[in-house]
Amino acid sequence: MNCHDVRETLEGYIAGDLADREASEVARHLDACPACAAAYEETRLLVAELKDLSGAFRPVPLDAAAFVSPAASPERRPRRRSWRPAWVLAAAVLLVVLAGAVAVATVPSVARTVPLPVGAQLNDLQQQNELMLEQTRAMEERVRTLEERIKSLTGDDVNVVPTSEQEIPDEVTMAVQQVVIQFIKAQYAGDLQRLKELSTPALDARIDERPEDYLRDNAGTVSFAQMTDVGIDENGLYLTFVRLSDTKVFSDSQYQENFAVEKSGDRYLVEYMETDA
Ligand SMILES: [Zn+2]
Repeated sequence: MNCHDVRETLEGYIAGDLADREASEVARHLDACPACAAAYEETRLLVAELKDLSGAFRPVPLDAAAFVSPAASPERRPRRRSWRPAWVLAAAVLLVVLAGAVAVATVPSVARTVPLPVGAQLNDLQQQNELMLEQTRAMEERVRTLEERIKSLTGDDVNVVPTSEQEIPDEVTMAVQQVVIQFIKAQYAGDLQRLKELSTPALDARIDERPEDYLRDNAGTVSFAQMTDVGIDENGLYLTFVRLSDTKVFSDSQYQENFAVEKSGDRYLVEYMETDA
């Protein structure tokens, strides 16, 4: 095997694709030829790097901690146990894909300028990149639509994050988000009566037990930072999470309120509200 032959087979050698006899010929040549040994080392590192890259941009399974952290105080947890449904996980994965797609967009063009035979890896990356860009575009479109929808709904400036892949009718989403926003406004207005009107009998009773968990009237003025799309859990409750700040208690950070909303006759009522980090 001469230098040319060896350079041609380096990628296969690194991938372990060569027949034993051919592989040992390459190994012998690399032992004896510093130039090819250097080319081998360079190719090996590049392939490893590209594999790392393509691994890094694959949507990975993760827990929902990035978006919904565990409740701060366990004793305040509700009787309802399965409150974080699968769509929250799906949401977290989608958000990672969205972030990854932006990051990966510049990789293939950079990598393509590297004059080494790593075509297969580049192809892989390119394909993943295109797939993710497609998903990003679809999600961006969805975010825009949802943002317009929520803005015309409440008159407040609320950013909506798409989370649920489930088909919830628009009017249901609106009704749920509207009751949630009214609920939060009543919290900040210290309007206990209004809070109870917006609640199911079960929540009404919990508000009576611990009104201080629900009232925010010492916290100044609320601003809505972000609101998830509406999902539905296995009990038929509508779920949405809102990230908030205000002018006194959370003036330089945000917190989250998690809502479960129940349809009751032709009204939507808050069945459960949990404060989250
Ligand atoms: Zn050589």
